[in-house]
Amino acid sequence: MDRKAISDLRQRIFWLREDREKLENSLFRPKKMIRASLVFLANYCGKKGCRCKKGFPHGPYPYLSEKRKGKTRMTYVKKRTLDEVKREAEEYARFQHRLARLRKLNEKIRSLFEQIRDLNCRKVEEYRKVLTERKKNIQRQENEKGN
Ligand SMILES: [Zn+2]
Repeated sequence: MDRKAISDLRQRIFWLREDREKLENSLFRPKKMIRASLVFLANYCGKKGCRCKKGFPHGPYPYLSEKRKGKTRMTYVKKRTLDEVKREAEEYARFQHRLARLRKLNEKIRSLFEQIRDLNCRKVEEYRKVLTERKKNIQRQENEKGN
């Protein structure tokens, strides 16, 4: 067993757990969020003779873009609520980003534990070899007694 390798793995896990604890603490008390992202889209009303027909669209206007059952739904955002909605959408994005980091950290930690496992693991093949050796030894001893 490689003691140095295992002690390095242990150290790396300790550091990652510190990172994870900080990250988790930052997730405990999120500010108000809205489950969507804020996007700005240009509009084409399609009316005859309108400037948008000539390539000068209206807007851009703010929308909340949300995923529902695999589809994207847009909801127009009124100007007086824009600041509030923007803040909430940003907080949601931040939270989601941190969750993704948490997932990666957990995967990393798990893979390091798997390495520790593998360094401490013997294969059944090795166990079989030991059994075969033992059997041979016993036979040899019996043969010697018999002689
Ligand atoms: Zn138009």
